Amino acid sequence: MASIVEYNERKAAENAYPERIISPPQPNDCCFSGMKQLGDVEEDGNWLYVYKRCRVCGYTVRNFLMMSPKALRKMRGGILRGLN
Ligand SMILES: [Zn+2]
Repeated sequence: MASIVEYNERKAAENAYPERIISPPQPNDCCFSGMKQLGDVEEDGNWLYVYKRCRVCGYTVRNFLMMSPKALRKMRGGILRGLN
């Protein structure tokens, strides 16, 4: 699945989550303390992630949290089959 974040230094930062986010291409000093989660946890392939956006400059990243429960089950199933 494609990211909804567009990194563009010529456009002003914009938060049109969940359709679109325009982010500066690089984080700034403010981003270390200003990041805030947008919306709910989402799933992309085997991973769960959230979008985090800086309240000050609008810098946005996809923050991967952990493998999805579905992917973990599939992996565990593969390991068990491998033992037989
Ligand atoms: Zn920032």
